Amino acid sequence: MELVFATHNKNKLKEIQTLVPDNIQLLSLTDIQCHEPIPETKNTLKGNAKLKADYVTKNYGLPCFADDTGLLVKSLNDAPGVFSARYAGPQNNAEANMDKLLQNLKNKPDRSARFKTVIALNLGGKTFFFDGTVTGEILTQKKGQDGFGYDPIFKPDGYEKTFAELPLEIKNKISHRGKATVKLINYLNTNYATI
Ligand code: IMP
Repeated sequence: MELVFATHNKNKLKEIQTLVPDNIQLLSLTDIQCHEPIPETKNTLKGNAKLKADYVTKNYGLPCFADDTGLLVKSLNDAPGVFSARYAGPQNNAEANMDKLLQNLKNKPDRSARFKTVIALNLGGKTFFFDGTVTGEILTQKKGQDGFGYDPIFKPDGYEKTFAELPLEIKNKISHRGKATVKLINYLNTNYATI
């Protein structure tokens, strides 16, 4: 069975391909020649993940899963949330996003936050959802060189280093995206290994 992962990132695709049943062939957006931007106009992670998966299924006639992620900061009423990528403006600039967040958290004693990923799987005319969360806190300054997005200012609970300092194997194991992906893979292995 062909199953689209709504991403252009070949590495993400390869990583998941090794974990799904052998009879599932994952395709990227590039593989199906989907080069137009997919709308992300809902105001929830779940809504946007479903919108992306549905868009591919409707326009390309293939089952698909898509993810959407946000950073939810408690003392900012869960902002930036679904707007995490464009918190500081439509240019999606990670440095500017972190600077804005650090500024908005000045003088706030509670710096607790969590990353949340929702995956929507559109298969056989039904949508299935899988989510993953990691809790932690926003530091007062950036630390570390690796990762992307808000990684340099997010320190997961139980660790003394930020996501930008921790080895990728550890981040993948404890992260929001890692946890949601494990649930998706378990679902596919349980229900689609023999089709
Ligand atoms: P997306 O839905 O995966 O594109 O994520 C939306 C935005 O959330 C990204 O542009 C990043 O700013 C942020 N983000 C998502 N995942 C991570 C992560 O693992 N570390 C840091 N930032 C992330």
